[in-house]
Amino acid sequence: MELSPTLEARLARIRGYLIDMDGTLYISGGVALPGAVEFVRALDAAGRPRVVLTNNSSKRGAVYVERLAKLGLSVDRAHVLTSGDAAAAWLARNSPLRRPYVLGTAALRAACTRVGLKPTAYADDPDCVLLGYDLELTYRRLSEASLLVARGLPYFATHLDRTCIDAEGLLPDAGAIAAAIATTNSFMPGGGPMPTVLGKPTAAMLDAGLALLGCTRDETLIIGDQLDTDMTLGAQHGVLCALVLTGETDRAKLAASAVRPDLVARDVGEVFAALRQAGALP
Ligand SMILES: [Mg+2]
Repeated sequence: MELSPTLEARLARIRGYLIDMDGTLYISGGVALPGAVEFVRALDAAGRPRVVLTNNSSKRGAVYVERLAKLGLSVDRAHVLTSGDAAAAWLARNSPLRRPYVLGTAALRAACTRVGLKPTAYADDPDCVLLGYDLELTYRRLSEASLLVARGLPYFATHLDRTCIDAEGLLPDAGAIAAAIATTNSFMPGGGPMPTVLGKPTAAMLDAGLALLGCTRDETLIIGDQLDTDMTLGAQHGVLCALVLTGETDRAKLAASAVRPDLVARDVGEVFAALRQAGALP
């Protein structure tokens, strides 16, 4: 693979890895993508820290540990970072808010509890609203969250992806749920507010990942398949990023985008080859 001297020098400094899962290490059906198993094993053999990422806040981290293990990838829970984990960590570390009304699944409530936040019911005076990909959504809970937002409570989301892909087509994701609340509250001055995002591509997600890696931005490589989340996470915060073409993004989509990944590779196996070529890995 052709690498510019500048890119080769930056790759040579890489020690830690933030790796997206779906579309990068495997595809939804549960098949490991080319080079994924060899790459993760090589990182482990070389003692390089790695954290796997997902913007999906509906499932517990343990679900991903199991899914990866089935594919021959061993990653422990401490090195899985969901947008729910990142959002909860950010609230606990950077805000005085401790009593979120969680419009999300049991997994998101568990992520909050893990860092000392107390998911709080509508009637018990929550101090903020945290919205995630809510597979347990009911009309009552959507209404409660909307009323709390109208009341002016600080309002956060794990991510705002509008849709997620299912075998049957596109389904409403967190962004679609937030849009329903914004529409409901469009009477508010300035229109119905949208939440502050704490997952990819925000600094909250990056900082949570770097803290788990124990690496600086300079020493870290982000690998992922999405331009608006994975690659923007790198581009906006000065972290080297490698796009793989095994998921959401193809060459046409890349050409039409303003986001410019530092490295574009066919798959994670090709990223691995570039890292070896640059001397970052044996
Ligand atoms: Mg992905």
